[in-house]
Amino acid sequence: MQRTFILLKPDCVQRRLMGRVISRFEEKGLNIVAMKMLRITPELAKQHYAEHVEKSWYGALEAFITGGPVVAAIVEGLDAIRVVRNMLGATSGLDAPAGTIRGDFSGSRQMNLVHGSDGPEAAEREMALYFEESEICGYQPTITPWLRASDES
Ligand code: ADP
Ligand code: MG
Repeated sequence: MQRTFILLKPDCVQRRLMGRVISRFEEKGLNIVAMKMLRITPELAKQHYAEHVEKSWYGALEAFITGGPVVAAIVEGLDAIRVVRNMLGATSGLDAPAGTIRGDFSGSRQMNLVHGSDGPEAAEREMALYFEESEICGYQPTITPWLRASDES
């Protein structure tokens, strides 16, 4: 089992796509174990996007990500980091294939609806940035025997 961090960005909230996006993860069989709405501050944005702070477009990204409420969540599943990234599709909605979240709902490089951690280190760092350990509600879904064979976990 692996956990990864997702963030429904301000465009997702404003466009009333929260429910549809969360449904995609639920339908896939991923387990949501933490979730909250918040407003990202410029300080948090710089921590979250530390790898991009020096980029020429960082200012635009910060204005976007702090521009409205977001929903932060932790999802759990087999290979959750890779599975979620594949479900998001390429960074730009113009490149992301149909069938992915960005491919189906976004026509933008910046306003691409959802963030997902890009690897195990990023996942650990981002989960800790947004959630206290006490805010994570791990549980065993009763439907588990119908999601995968017992030897797949
Ligand atoms: P990803 O979210 O797919 O990991 P990146 O880490 O490259 O993508 O970029 C982080 C976020 O910054 C993107 O999801 C997007 O919202 C925004 N972004 C990426 N490239 C640009 C750009 N050239 N100009 C403005 N915003 C960008
Ligand atoms: Mg990235």
